[in-house]
Amino acid sequence: PESLLTPERLPDDVEQSIRPLSLAEFIGQRAARANMQIFIESAKKTGSALDHVLFVGPPGLGKTTLAQIVARELGVNFRSTSGPVIAKAGDLAAQLTNLEERDVLFIDEIHRLNPAVEEILYPAMEDYQLDLIIGEGPAARSVKIELPKFTLVGATTRAGLLTTPLRDRFGIPIRLEFYDVDELELIVTRGARVLGIGMSAEGANEIAKRARGTPRIAGRLLRRVRDFAIVADAPTVTRAIADRALQLLDVDPAGLDVMDRKYLTMIAGSFNGGPVGIETIAAALSEPRDAIEDIIEPFLIQKGFVQRTPRGRMLTPHAYRHMGFAEPRRDPG
Ligand code: ADP
Repeated sequence: PESLLTPERLPDDVEQSIRPLSLAEFIGQRAARANMQIFIESAKKTGSALDHVLFVGPPGLGKTTLAQIVARELGVNFRSTSGPVIAKAGDLAAQLTNLEERDVLFIDEIHRLNPAVEEILYPAMEDYQLDLIIGEGPAARSVKIELPKFTLVGATTRAGLLTTPLRDRFGIPIRLEFYDVDELELIVTRGARVLGIGMSAEGANEIAKRARGTPRIAGRLLRRVRDFAIVADAPTVTRAIADRALQLLDVDPAGLDVMDRKYLTMIAGSFNGGPVGIETIAAALSEPRDAIEDIIEPFLIQKGFVQRTPRGRMLTPHAYRHMGFAEPRRDPG
């Protein structure tokens, strides 16, 4: 099940039901939460719009959820769009002019805005102004439109994908980290409660261990395990039930997905464990380089399976042990 473990959003993810609605309910990301708390309090006290916020981190870690929470905590409207769907400057202009004072406009995948659209964001973010060109040729003239003081919340997988002028216009950059097993266990337990699933602590732990550090995957595994428990007539998800369900789903005990394993197998098998350059890896896997750097590698590096060296990526002994490969024989010198 290639899609089961992908951290990216799938059409049948019913995420809304288990989304936390307040900062207090939001589990993990302690540093990000503490910062947000202060900035939100201060904006509320002064009655001003919150500074623009940029959430950076791999898919499924809670960027959209946090953006919604920001609007809710501020008591303002939440409007949402994404980089690739804003085709023309006019589309963004329409969104901006429809905002009310202090509203939150969320732009997912903000690194994928087209340059003409991005251009009109600069004065909008900086001076709450739209600079539009109306008409064409000699009749063209520029008009300035005042915008309400709004908060732009952007989300991206890597800050380096943003142009410098765009990145510089976010007053509050916030990096999200992978979740540890304890945090994911809490998320699974809470999700089970919301969905009305009987869940033992051990069952929640088993799901958490295999969720690739990612709440979105934890939620998805939880729903599959629930289906398995229903079919097995098990009123409560025990460790054994969770384990059997996840084994059937081909989920690795470390939470590695099919692409992770392909990546490791390829570097071990075709490149003797590395070092191998990112372009070569991308070609060998037929995946875009960005997807490898943004989705596959961050987790493998954090887990100590892969090291980034100046000469390329290298598998660690830990990766060899985990995958059950024989360690490479390296020629001396
Ligand atoms: P992103 O925008 O980073 O891709 P989302 O905000 O869409 O991620 O979160 C993906 C899923 O994970 C949602 O169902 C959300 O409810 C859940 N989720 C994310 N972070 C948390 C958290 N800290 N606690 C509980 N659930 C979370």
